[in-house]
This record gives sequence, C-alpha cells and structure tokens, in this order.
Amino acid sequence: MAKNANDIGIKVGNLPGHSCSDKNCPFHGSIKLRGRIFTGKVLAGRAQKTATVGWERMYYIPKFERYEKRRTKLHVHNPECINAGENDIVKIAETKPLSKTKHFVIIEKLGKEVKVIAADLGAEQKAEKEHKAEKAAEKNTAKKDKHKENTDEE
Ligand SMILES: [Zn+2]
Repeated sequence: MAKNANDIGIKVGNLPGHSCSDKNCPFHGSIKLRGRIFTGKVLAGRAQKTATVGWERMYYIPKFERYEKRRTKLHVHNPECINAGENDIVKIAETKPLSKTKHFVIIEKLGKEVKVIAADLGAEQKAEKEHKAEKAAEKNTAKKDKHKENTDEE
C-alpha cells in the first residue's frame, strides 16, 4: 500500500499499489473530487494519462412503454499509479476540468470486463420485466372488469 495517499473522500476497495508524481492524481496529486461517480469500461487507454470510458444506460420511451439503450462516452484522466488499460472496468469520479474535454478521473480498477456491467444490465432488465408484468396485470384486470359489466347487463 502507498504510504502517503490522500483521503479522496470516496470509499475505494483497492488503493493504488504505488505512489506517483501525477499532479492530477486524486491520491498523490492536488485535485479534489466532487460530483458524480460512475462505473464504466475503458474503451481506449493508449493516450498519455487519458482514457476513454463508456457505459450503457437504459432510457425509457413513454410512447412505446419500452427502454432503449443509450451510450455514454467520456474522456477521463488516467493517473500514473492506476494506469488502466483497455477493457478494464473502472470507477470514475467527477473533478474540476482538467482539459477541454476531461473533468473525470479514474479512482479505482475493478477488474477486467464483463461481470460488473453484466450484473448491472441484469438488474435493469429485471426491472423492465417487472414493469411489463405490472402493465400486463393491469390490462388483465381491466379486461375482467369489462367482462363483468357485460355479464351483469345480460
Ligand atoms: Zn497516484
């Protein structure tokens, strides 16, 4: 474990293994984190201290009562001591603007690809299914009520 890592104010499972001299590193530099936190996959990590992180979210379309996938893609700072590579799942936190397009920084590597995102998507799909089931149940009861009315009249 690094000795003099700053307390970044966010609980992180595994701290960077070594210290670094990156002034834009939340652990060893001087930037402060505030704002939103996301988890995503590194799509491109070959640029110097910059990575592109993306993830999918489900966007609800009321007219069709269905969800569609929307993609988010961000440029994030990749501190020297974390040095995430392509396909790494990372946790990112918002910070002050570091350049024209960077205002997020990687704070933790969560491992390689799949499981994390798959679990998230699974939860969302489950929610969607439940939502559908509810709608179906509503329709069924509505039908039943109609049927009752008809039989009452006869
Ligand atoms: Zn560092």
